[in-house]
Amino acid sequence: MTPQTSFPDGPRGEDTQLGGVHIKYFHHCPRQLWLYTRGYRPEQRSDLVAFGEVVDDTTFTRRRDIDLGEAKIDWVTTGAVVHETKSSRAPSPGHAAQVRHYCLLLERRGVTVRGGTVHYPVIRRTTDVPWDTEAREEAEASEARARATIAAEVAPSRLTRADCRGCSYLDYCWGD
Ligand code: SF4
Repeated sequence: MTPQTSFPDGPRGEDTQLGGVHIKYFHHCPRQLWLYTRGYRPEQRSDLVAFGEVVDDTTFTRRRDIDLGEAKIDWVTTGAVVHETKSSRAPSPGHAAQVRHYCLLLERRGVTVRGGTVHYPVIRRTTDVPWDTEAREEAEASEARARATIAAEVAPSRLTRADCRGCSYLDYCWGD
């Protein structure tokens, strides 16, 4: 049976300032986003999370963080091009979605955004993230779906056990 699935006094989706982590969690697992916005924080962080922070701290030293309040962008170069660094060995749709969300937030602040790039230093790859009408629509739809997830009274279902690998919520969802 899925553990604790209802927090009746949870946050309302429209009241939550959505940052990159919300969008990343939503795309990885809606349940992860739901738990996160209810203040659940794993006591033991997964090795993958810790490894990601190490990579993030040491790989790119000459960068300019952009703090939007609800979101902290790794850095933005002339244009403006949004840059995001990931420790993963494989690009995932959630990474591009996170960058598109940053593009959307910047555009709402009046910035003319050119696009984004996701950097994967472990595998020495980059992935370009276009910013156009279609990307904007995707970002807005993603934001709306994330808000609906947050507002749900009951937690979304778990992913399959295999898809949960590396998630820092494993102990909560599976009792590991
Ligand atoms: S352990 Fe699995 S079901 Fe639970 S939040 Fe993580 S990915 Fe989702």
